[in-house]
This record gives sequence, structure tokens and C-alpha cells, in this order.
Amino acid sequence: MIDVIGIIGGGQLGQMMIDAAHELGFKCIVLDPQEKCPCSFNADEMIIGAYDDRDKVLELCKKSDIVTYEFENVGYRLVKEYQEAYNIVQGFNPLYYSQHRLREKNSAVKLGLKCGKFESVNNPTQLKKAIELLKLPAVLKTCSGGYDGKGQVIIKDDNYEDAIELVKNSECILEEFIKFDSEISVVVSRNPKGQITTLPIGDNIHINNILHMSVLPSLESETIKAKAIGVAKEYVEGMDFVGTITIELFVVGEELFFNEMAPRPHNSGHYSIEGASSSQFRQHILAITNQELKTPQLNDDCVMINVLGQDVEGVKELEEASLDNIYIHMYGKKEAKYNRKMGHVTLIGYSKEEAIKIRNRYWRSGNE
Ligand code: AMP
Repeated sequence: MIDVIGIIGGGQLGQMMIDAAHELGFKCIVLDPQEKCPCSFNADEMIIGAYDDRDKVLELCKKSDIVTYEFENVGYRLVKEYQEAYNIVQGFNPLYYSQHRLREKNSAVKLGLKCGKFESVNNPTQLKKAIELLKLPAVLKTCSGGYDGKGQVIIKDDNYEDAIELVKNSECILEEFIKFDSEISVVVSRNPKGQITTLPIGDNIHINNILHMSVLPSLESETIKAKAIGVAKEYVEGMDFVGTITIELFVVGEELFFNEMAPRPHNSGHYSIEGASSSQFRQHILAITNQELKTPQLNDDCVMINVLGQDVEGVKELEEASLDNIYIHMYGKKEAKYNRKMGHVTLIGYSKEEAIKIRNRYWRSGNE
């Protein structure tokens, strides 16, 4: 019998997981180094400590009936050590792959998924050889630790000093530059019985490599959407993953290229809290507690817009305007730093054009 879910990581994804867990009748204990993290607002208990603090992880495990993680930078070795004894349902595997781009890409290739060409590069000489093989433009990425475009350099011509600096300091992967038509993410949930569901797919608009807006339903063809769902299911099934996992794909004509995966709910699925019949967070909790998954259906056209540090003041005005069918989620982060994700807003029953009008009025992002 499961009463208490332990969550490693106290960010906004954990916060939204807790809301879903409470709705389903579970209590949540969260481990995070920050006392005032987003989860501190709704967790039933907080354990303050680092994600790799053995004693704190053990305390969390002992106090919980099952354990999950809400982000991918949790040390996979510790999870591996405790996963059997303490029921860390997703296990260490998703972390092991998502924490290292080369392992991640190789896992997709092994399962027969299409990837752009890539090479492992660990020094400037290897980088030069890899550039000769893959041709320019190409994208150099650190194998570990990069996110939202950090730890990445696009190499366009022979002046690539930045890339040389990057490869001198970290293990990297060089990827061929994919001239994609669009990017799609598929949010998949899978329970231990092997049942799989996916969220309706949206169109994602990025600014400075950070997700700005998701628009539902996606305007991609039904063929592409069905293909994307097929690819995502194949990956998650092939890897035997449990929980909610997000697969990011590049669309080139009718073809799909695997970019990366995140072993957790995803920013592009936040719309599902109000926009779908079951949210990505509810699906995650259902999956890790080994319950039946219901296929989430889109309730209405909708748009999710992220609220970054520079948007907070404007979004306060939006709140005061009390417009219908607009749902504002602020994560309770104290410092509104530039480009830091502070919250998101979901507009239900709005088209992209209508949402952009609202965005233009209340946000700084997209208007700078
Ligand atoms: P990533 O952290 O790998 O998701 O990369 C961040 C963003 O950079 C992606 O969402 C793409 O817009 C872009 N990008 C990453 N890899 C490539 C690639 N191989 N070709 C073209 N664009 C890329």
C-alpha cells in the first residue's frame, strides 16, 4: 500500500507533481538543498539536503513508500544503490542515459531511431577531425550538465575559438546541424505493467533556446504526429522506462530525428494541467504508483506561455485584469532573475493569435 511518495528535487516540476499526488490521495516528502524551494509550499514534509547526500537520500527513502525524482541531475549511482531496497520506481537507468549526451544518442541509435550524425570529441584535434567528417555547420555540446542551450556552441565557419575552449574543458559531442522545419516533444507515461499513454502534441516556440510558448493542438500533420508518438513509445518501451518521460524530436519534412529525452514531466506539457483530461503530473503519479493510465485528451485549444524573471511584473497586471479562462501558476521563487523560469500561464480556449495579443500586452519576453 502506497501512502507516501518521496521526491528527490524540490523545483516547480516537483511542486506540480505534489498537487497531482494530493488529488490522488498521497502525501509527499521532498529532498532539496533549498529550504524555500517551490516544493516547500505544498510538500507534506521537507528534508533539507543535497541530492547526493547519502544520509539524506536514505532518510527520504526510509520515510517514503516509493520514491521518484523530478529532474535529471540526481546522482545515478546513489539511485542505483538504493532503487531495489527502497522502491525508487523509475530506477537509475533514465538518469544514466539522460546525464550523458553520448550515452543518450547511442541508446536511441541502438533502438533503431533516426539521429543526426554525431561524433564523440574530447580535445581540439578530435574536434577538427569530427568537423571534417560532419561538415559545417555543426553543434558542439558538452556531454553533461548543459540545458536550455547552455554548454553548446554552433560552429558555422573556421573561427571556432569558443568551441575549442568548450572541448578543452569538457567531454563533448559534435552533432551535425539539422535544418529542421520544427521541433516536437512527446510527453509519454508508462506504468510498470507496460501500459503507455502520450499527451496531445503541441507546437513549441523557443526564444534564446528557452521554451516561450506551447500551442495546442499542433499544426503538424496527423502523419507526423502519429509517427512522433510511435517513435517516442518505441524509445520508452525499448528502454523499459517507467514514469513520465519526454522525447524531443526534430521534424525534417516527413522525417523525425531524435534530439534528446528528459526522464520527467516537461515544460511543454504544463498546459495539460487545465488543457487536458489528465495532466502530465497526474499521469506520472499514476504510472509510478502502478495504476491504470487514462489517455489524456485535449479539453480545448490552448496556449501555455512561460513567465521568466523579466515577465513577473507584467503578469501581476494580467492577474489584476482577471480575464476568463486564464490560469496563472507562479512557483514561489524569490529572486526574479532574467530568463529564470518563475511560472507559467495557460490560456484555455485561446488561439495562438489571441494569446500573442495578450503576450504582447503583459510580457517582456517576445517583445524585446
Ligand atoms: P538541446 O539542449 O540539445 O535540446 O538543444 C537546445 C536547442 O538547440 C534545440 O532545441 C534546438 O533548437 C537546437 N539544436 C540542438 N541540437 C541541434 C542540432 N543538432 N541541429 C540543429 N539545432 C540543434
